[in-house]
Amino acid sequence: MVGAMEYDLFVIGGGSGGVRAARIAAGLGARVGIAERRFWGGTCVNIGCVPKKLMAQGAELGAALTEAGGFGWQVRGKGHDFGAMMAAIGAETQRLSGLYRGILEGAGVTMMEGSARLTGAHTVAVNGAEIGARHIFLAVGGVPVRPEFPGAALCAVSDDVFTLRDLPRRVAILGSGYIAVEFACIFAGLGAAVDLIFRQPLPLRGFDGELREALAAALPALGVRLHAGRMIASVETAGAARAVTLSDGTGMVADFVLLATGRMAAAGGLGLEAAGVALSPSGAIAVDEGLRTSVPSINAIGDAVDQVNLTPVAIAHGHVLAERLFGEGRRDWNFRDIPSAVFCSPPIATVGLTEEQAVARGETEVFVGRFTPLKHRISGRAGRQAVVKLVVDASDGRVLGAHMLGEDAPEIVQGLAVAITAGATKRDFDRTIGIHPTAAEEFVTLRQMTRRVGRHAATS
Ligand code: NDP
Repeated sequence: MVGAMEYDLFVIGGGSGGVRAARIAAGLGARVGIAERRFWGGTCVNIGCVPKKLMAQGAELGAALTEAGGFGWQVRGKGHDFGAMMAAIGAETQRLSGLYRGILEGAGVTMMEGSARLTGAHTVAVNGAEIGARHIFLAVGGVPVRPEFPGAALCAVSDDVFTLRDLPRRVAILGSGYIAVEFACIFAGLGAAVDLIFRQPLPLRGFDGELREALAAALPALGVRLHAGRMIASVETAGAARAVTLSDGTGMVADFVLLATGRMAAAGGLGLEAAGVALSPSGAIAVDEGLRTSVPSINAIGDAVDQVNLTPVAIAHGHVLAERLFGEGRRDWNFRDIPSAVFCSPPIATVGLTEEQAVARGETEVFVGRFTPLKHRISGRAGRQAVVKLVVDASDGRVLGAHMLGEDAPEIVQGLAVAITAGATKRDFDRTIGIHPTAAEEFVTLRQMTRRVGRHAATS
């Protein structure tokens, strides 16, 4: 039966994870086919990380023009052409999408454009043709979740941001996860009035509490109004705009209402039942720790399994799986201390355990530093105070988590993630010489413990 298969591997989904899996498998000599229904490079390249980051950088440049005044620059004519920025970003994402195609072509992978559907444990239908494969990877990514309330259909999701050609002047955003917080800062930075509506007391549930508080304190300086502990009750049309009513009866008018309430696996229409692939309780594709679905010949990776929905995780999934099935070596990735960043303003970056998680495990030493970056001593820009934090296991001095809110936090914490993966202790941080003057050196000059918390803290 296997001899009749056209492919050793067929990948459904040409996003970051699927493309990596296809390339590595093909490089190891496998005959590989891949299908993509929308755009090569997937969410990250086309309607996610990449254009979002460029928008965030575009928004920050506006603030930089004002900051420059503190340094003697005389900047006139600070108008912003939103359409020009979006056109430039669109051109760049198209270039990158083309690079992904090039990677697949270069690797000798057969590319198909269209929706693919499982028809059995070893068969896939693409554009009406049935294809046989020894292994099938489901790398279909995720789609935004739209909560139910009257008028929800009048609201946008993150995909829609990237087709805007004019800046909406009034923006209401529901949610306070990655997407909500990032776009709140982007729109506010570009000059819109932003209302951020969320059901928690603080934004970014799951992040370290001290950073959440610092972010909530920083957002109003950007022009983001916070509506904590609230939901959207309804949305109605108000001419070309939208009338938004919150759960406490507060009303507001917005030109753009963005629902940023999570993403779910794009498992619909995939023919999972036909092949016997089981779903998890959250509706994602269920996999074991080896990324195997309930059907031995079918694996799933990335956002489709809805575990840690980050591009580098999907890439690592695709890579490790392709190597395991078609190669010898197995790369040893650390899936425990996964760093991530929120490209808000100032940005947040984090790796390892939060203080709350560490304390739940045992006695913990916490080191916190707060400072105003040197530049803002004269830039005149308010709300730019930075917070750096180390969470340390009191029993052996191992650094369990590093967290930062402040400019360049994502660039700084990536390096700290290596230290934490390598098992660095607080003593290692203390004996590391800083680079001066930087924000990063604050992580190696946290001499004074801020507090000791956890099980035995009261007695120590
Ligand atoms: P998140 O899971 O991060 O946040 C969802 C937000 O929506 C939370 O604030 C949640 O509130 C709220 N929410 C969920 N359901 C409802 C509801 N019915 N009514 C009101 N509020 C609701 O999802 P995002 O959409 O922000 O992002 C999706 C994923 O994409 C992220 O988890 C992340 O993995 C990835 N991503 C990563 C980025 C990065 O690395 N920089 C950038 C963008 C996305 P509550 O906290 O109360 O549950």
